Amino acid sequence: MSEAEKEERRTLLEQSYMPFKVTLYYAQLIAEQTEPYRTQMINIVLPPPGSKPFKGRFDPYGNRSYRQDDTSFLQHKYKKTLLLHIDDYCIANCQFCYKVNEIRHEEQEHKKINDKLNAALEYLEKNPYVDNILLTGGDPASFRKTAELTELIGSLLAAPNVRLVRFATKGLAYYPERFLDEELLEFFRQISRVEGKQVSVISQFNHPGEFGPLAIKATRALQEVGVQVRGQPAIIRGVNESVKTLIDLQRKFLDNQIISYYMTVFMPVRGVEQYALTLDEAFQNVAESKRNLGGLEKKGVLLTSHDFGKFEICGFYPSIKQPEKIVLKWHQAVAPQYLPERLKQLVPTLPEEILLLDYKQGEMYCLDHVLKYNGLPYVNESGEAVDDGTNEYLLSL
Ligand code: SF4
Repeated sequence: MSEAEKEERRTLLEQSYMPFKVTLYYAQLIAEQTEPYRTQMINIVLPPPGSKPFKGRFDPYGNRSYRQDDTSFLQHKYKKTLLLHIDDYCIANCQFCYKVNEIRHEEQEHKKINDKLNAALEYLEKNPYVDNILLTGGDPASFRKTAELTELIGSLLAAPNVRLVRFATKGLAYYPERFLDEELLEFFRQISRVEGKQVSVISQFNHPGEFGPLAIKATRALQEVGVQVRGQPAIIRGVNESVKTLIDLQRKFLDNQIISYYMTVFMPVRGVEQYALTLDEAFQNVAESKRNLGGLEKKGVLLTSHDFGKFEICGFYPSIKQPEKIVLKWHQAVAPQYLPERLKQLVPTLPEEILLLDYKQGEMYCLDHVLKYNGLPYVNESGEAVDDGTNEYLLSL
């Protein structure tokens, strides 16, 4: 970077709550890119310039509120899925990460992995309807030793009710060499021979420039030993929101046999709100990219994730150019005990039903803005659930 660029980024970094961290591999990968990819990838690890149109919040996915004090690493938010937080830190830090609060307070003295495993196994025994585990972090795969990971994944899959262990990692982009470890690959190969048990990697590739030769090789190595690799990029201003970059990214998924799972809009993270796009803008760009892609390339639906669950953004009414209503559908609601009572009374919560909510173009960057505008319970910038009871919307759908 030029001196002027460095100075500008340093100032912007001071406004971010996320510490700066990048692997040498990824820094070199950025340096090899031509524009606009170079700047777009710098924007992943250093916040870009831009105005902040609203004030975000820490923990915009309600992660903390669903954890229990004594086993805060376990999170049972969705009925069939148990989240196991392995380590709240990463090998490199994305500045727009929604776990900014956990990661910046990262605990160096983390619990032993066996204690977490035992607690998870005990929980699974008491909750036999849970059939899949999501190992999450930070980045569980990149930090932990192979022996720890294989012990963890193998033991979880050995539980009779567990059919799938998936782990979310940005390691394929930040540190692909990790996944060329023969011992780890051999373990996955053995798992793939067990009927009814599966390992899936949620790859967190966010930009087409991240598909360097080593990342492609590591992705292929995982697939060859029977690991499903999936993609769920976040749509981030300055990184990948342009139609062209979105097209390239989805093409890279198909080229590398990565299954598109979903795309998610930027969550309203405190301190880096310049990354946000309005919901209609994000929808429009994704829709336009899909018009340029073949059937299998455009499978990822656009989601907005929230404390109350994940919503698919299905479209805008009467048109994307004049969006007066937003059409949403639950992808998954959190377990009923975590949903505000009035929300359950006011809007449908079954995944097959849609929500048609008032929308104000140019002002709505996250689901809280939509919920508030419609007088529905929402979460404010301090992370408090607000329900002022003014809503009349409903059920006339
Ligand atoms: S890899 Fe994921 S968890 Fe880690 S900093 Fe990036 S967004 Fe956050």
